[in-house]
Amino acid sequence: MRITYIHHSCYAVECEEALLVFDYWQDPNNLLHNMISECQKQVYFLVSHFHDDHYNPEILELDARRIVSYDAKKRRRIPDEKATAVMRMDEVYEDELIRVTALKSTDVGVCYLVEADGERLFHAGDYNNWYFERGDEHLKVSAREMEGLFMATLRKAKSAAGEIDHLMFPIDPRLEEHTLRGIRQWLKAIPSHHLYPMHTWQQDITPYLDELQQEYNIKIHWQK
Ligand SMILES: [Zn+2]
Repeated sequence: MRITYIHHSCYAVECEEALLVFDYWQDPNNLLHNMISECQKQVYFLVSHFHDDHYNPEILELDARRIVSYDAKKRRRIPDEKATAVMRMDEVYEDELIRVTALKSTDVGVCYLVEADGERLFHAGDYNNWYFERGDEHLKVSAREMEGLFMATLRKAKSAAGEIDHLMFPIDPRLEEHTLRGIRQWLKAIPSHHLYPMHTWQQDITPYLDELQQEYNIKIHWQK
């Protein structure tokens, strides 16, 4: 399994017979387009929610299976025939290559737990412990309520997967001193072997990653 960082929250996961693309928004180095044109495998686009930074309507034009959240289906007006599966929380999609479980995000839409080639992947979408001291203005919840929502999905992920091989998770410096709060809570509860940071807004996150590396036995995949 080869996992390539594309941009922002987009990772491309090359499996034996499938190419999984999570939350494709932009492809500044044409990496994704090259991969798609060179690879003979079944392409999947997975969309966690409708936000601009997680979606590109180009996915409707490419030859692929599309697994989209219910809000993306509606807000992005994705035609029925273009959606292979429309996911709400706790729903499962399964075909001959992958099995996908949708869990509730702490923002809009869902996060995805995926089993492929016997490995377990988790892509958070906008799921994180958005622990803003004054509460989250956009979500209209207090920091404590946010933490409760975050832990509820965490428990579900733990009972559904036990361990995660490949974890794609936000390291978002806008949270300042709470940037690592969510990922620490996750790693304490769910053994995860490889971490792929995302949603970094092009900030230098290496000091955060160094801290994490000292605390947890996890392989972090990140290039500046
Ligand atoms: Zn986002």
